[in-house]
Amino acid sequence: SAQVTSTRGQSFTLPNVKNIIAVSSGKGGVGKSTVTANLAVALAKSGAEVGIIDADIFGPSIPTMFNCEYEQPEMVKEGDRNLIIPITQYGVKLVSIGFLTPKDNAIVWRGPMASSALKQFISDVKWGDLDYLLIDLPPGTSDIHLTLVQSVPVTGALIVTTPQKVAIADAKKGLSMFKLPQINVPVLGVIENMAYFTPEELPDNKYYLFGENGGKMLAEKEEVPFLGQIPIVQSIRESGDSGFPAVMKDGITEDAFMELSQSVAR
Ligand code: ADP
Repeated sequence: SAQVTSTRGQSFTLPNVKNIIAVSSGKGGVGKSTVTANLAVALAKSGAEVGIIDADIFGPSIPTMFNCEYEQPEMVKEGDRNLIIPITQYGVKLVSIGFLTPKDNAIVWRGPMASSALKQFISDVKWGDLDYLLIDLPPGTSDIHLTLVQSVPVTGALIVTTPQKVAIADAKKGLSMFKLPQINVPVLGVIENMAYFTPEELPDNKYYLFGENGGKMLAEKEEVPFLGQIPIVQSIRESGDSGFPAVMKDGITEDAFMELSQSVAR
């Protein structure tokens, strides 16, 4: 069970949450939210209870990826606390900064505000029983990351990167952050997204558009597990935009994410 420090500085437990997993990336645009969304649905498909906190303050994309951009979470009073009821979509419980801010408005928040929003998402949400609470972090290393590790016992961190050199360099920084003594969060492993492209008419060919095996080599060098490769698939992009995670309908994607969910569950 998870010990939490709330926005009011109180400490209490989240007895019903088994694993809190931070999903992190060095750079933006490498597919961190896409991986979070598809992984969550894959874990739910294999029978786990799953929640997502979209903590990507500057670009909350989980509501779009789950086709619930215009939902407004309800509140419930429990004792002296007001709790947010997460939106459930495709079997996954969701809270997002995106539910609480007007659409299309740029978010210009100071670090402390963003951090307190994240704390609230952990402590003031009626999560119920969860096997996995995935936290979609902003890219890079920020206040949010610090708040997260200081207020909850994060079970482990997943690092999402593309194989590209610039992405790897940044992923390496993110990875080192989790290893710092004051942070000390186990790195569950590296996920290489957009690893290669296979055209439908050439099913045996792999084209390494962003370079070959960059994520795998990073994992080896940093001595953390390599959790697998997700190819570039047009339907991953399309289904992200249409709010229907590709893992639910596309065979290649389903295979890749079901396999990934098994490595994460291990
Ligand atoms: P991040 O959260 O790292 O900023 P996103 O998950 O928003 O990145 O992904 C960035 C863009 O790349 C989105 O348009 C998404 O649909 C697309 N994308 C991510 N992963 C893949 C993939 N494996 N194949 C095709 N498109 C992808």
